[in-house]
Amino acid sequence: MRGKLIVVSGPSGAGKSTLIRAALDAVPELAYSVSATTRAPREGEVNGRDYIFLSREEFERWIEAGYFLEWAEYSGNLYGTPEHRVDELLDSGLSVILEIELQGARKVREQRPDAKMVFVRAPSLEENRRRLEGRATETSEALESRMTTAVREVAALDEFDYEVVNGDREQARREVVDTMKKIIRGGNDAE
Ligand code: 5GP
Repeated sequence: MRGKLIVVSGPSGAGKSTLIRAALDAVPELAYSVSATTRAPREGEVNGRDYIFLSREEFERWIEAGYFLEWAEYSGNLYGTPEHRVDELLDSGLSVILEIELQGARKVREQRPDAKMVFVRAPSLEENRRRLEGRATETSEALESRMTTAVREVAALDEFDYEVVNGDREQARREVVDTMKKIIRGGNDAE
């Protein structure tokens, strides 16, 4: 049976990546779609595992070649989901997580109406900012741009099937794992 397509979105700093890693560890039917980006690698990021790091020229060639299920510009960089790999994984029976920002999430929902949409957010925008500051991966300009985008993203919460508030880390982890299992089992009880 073909797997489910699962979009996980929400502001930068909400803790999406950590929760997704926990879900991948806990649920063997899940796979992660590695995105392409023009952003520079952060310390510790590995090409092909965290992202496929491309130059803008290469990325634009991929767009022209029709390689992307969706792509978007976010905070001055391009990000996109290579379509071929997603379908390969879905065909193999795995459910596939796309960790993408709001514009991309909307494009996926248009193109793949069966996709399940999960929104992850911090308990408040103030807490979101604290987390981004604590992570210290962005310049102050990039951090402000991410926070401006965060306000718009939180306003789109209604467009999603599931919401996970990442306050207590352990509770959020359990909620994400339960949500993934529910989606894979095919329940329609969105919450
Ligand atoms: P970061 O630079 O922090 O890794 O990611 C910035 C934002 O881009 C995050 O919200 C992340 O979910 C999103 N993102 C990562 N990969 C993709 C992708 O393939 N497509 C889109 N539209 N957004 C992505």
